[in-house]
Amino acid sequence: MGNQDSYAVKVRTDEASLWKGNSPPLDSLDIELTERCNNNCIHCYINLPATDLNARQRELSTKEIQEILQEAASLGCLTIKFTGGEPLLRTDFEDLYIFARKLGLRVILLTNATLITPALVEVFASIPPLEPIEVTLYGMHKSSYEAVTRVSGSFEATRQGIDLLLKKKIHFVVKGVFLQQNREEIDEFESWAATIPYTDTIPSYSLFFDLRARRDSEQKNRLIKGLRLSPEEVVTFFFRRREQYFKEMRKFCSQFAKPSRRDIFSCGAGMRNGCVDAYGHLQLCMLLRHPATVYDLKKGSLKDALTNFFPEIRMMKAENPDYLNRCARCFLHGLCEQCPARSWMEHGALDTPIEYHCKIAHAQATALGLLEEGEWAWQIDDWEERIRNFSDGRLACPKISHPVAGSCTTG
Ligand code: SF4
Ligand code: SF4
Repeated sequence: MGNQDSYAVKVRTDEASLWKGNSPPLDSLDIELTERCNNNCIHCYINLPATDLNARQRELSTKEIQEILQEAASLGCLTIKFTGGEPLLRTDFEDLYIFARKLGLRVILLTNATLITPALVEVFASIPPLEPIEVTLYGMHKSSYEAVTRVSGSFEATRQGIDLLLKKKIHFVVKGVFLQQNREEIDEFESWAATIPYTDTIPSYSLFFDLRARRDSEQKNRLIKGLRLSPEEVVTFFFRRREQYFKEMRKFCSQFAKPSRRDIFSCGAGMRNGCVDAYGHLQLCMLLRHPATVYDLKKGSLKDALTNFFPEIRMMKAENPDYLNRCARCFLHGLCEQCPARSWMEHGALDTPIEYHCKIAHAQATALGLLEEGEWAWQIDDWEERIRNFSDGRLACPKISHPVAGSCTTG
């Protein structure tokens, strides 16, 4: 104990005697309460209709989710994220929320805000989630918003939900989705977001639209692919805040830009974290639903999954020759959105390069001056020197062959 006069002392969780010098097995857990949603967004990788009875019947019961929350807390978990689909479609949401908070868990709620009610904001006001609620907004006007959600009345519903949060001073942040349908409204969106109390950062955006996580609809995948920005548009988007982008990328690349070699998992997925899908399967991350990588919690426990199953999965090595010749040797690996989950969504395997993300990563690297036009990242031998020079701000100003406003600040 520290100062004998104080009632409480702060200790790091990995130093607390409860964990006997070891880190607790779990820091945070995401729970997808349902795959169903009352919106039907054109870009959505997961949604099922709100009325899908089959999905509803297969979802975890209140008791099953409470048991998972209890075990999570006992394993040292501090933060729970409730997501979906739309988590507020669950009629037991309030019970689950209060149960989680009574366990001492901080709660992050991801929602489209259309189902927020006066009664629910009263609950948030009396038992605060301790983390900001995250609301995704699909457009600033009825026409743009509903062109994305494809549900009449959803714009009024979301603005009503947001107004309720504002009125009760519930801390929330808004996130955007950058689509053809709303791209002219981006300045308006950011100006409005800046007026939300407690907001001190620019909203984050969904930019790279993932294909269906369950690989359940070729038709929906075609629609999603048609919404994707070109590599040039992605670079132009990032260059809107050129100075900040370079600053962030210098830091990011110095830490993460390096080849993954044969390791399939070079991210932190499944390391003291995990995601439970609506039916009780524990996944390493919310996107990864390859059957070989998920653990059925109805037949086991969180502890077993985290301490035995996940470490084994994370040891998996790539075998695809295309991956070994490219991604395994590519210093853009940390920068590129290629990952086992997206490889699974796009190609049905964990170790396949993804052409769309490959082109975007190369366009970004060229715009940042890490590559010359026509170079392939997996063929670059002096990549460490390039990253060092870039991170130190010593790399020559790149020549960009597509229209990007402003002048280069790297030289
Ligand atoms: S609100 Fe979210 S979960 Fe629902 S359809 Fe839209 S993107 Fe999907
Ligand atoms: S840029 Fe291409 S080669 Fe490099 S990791 Fe991404 S998909 Fe693989």
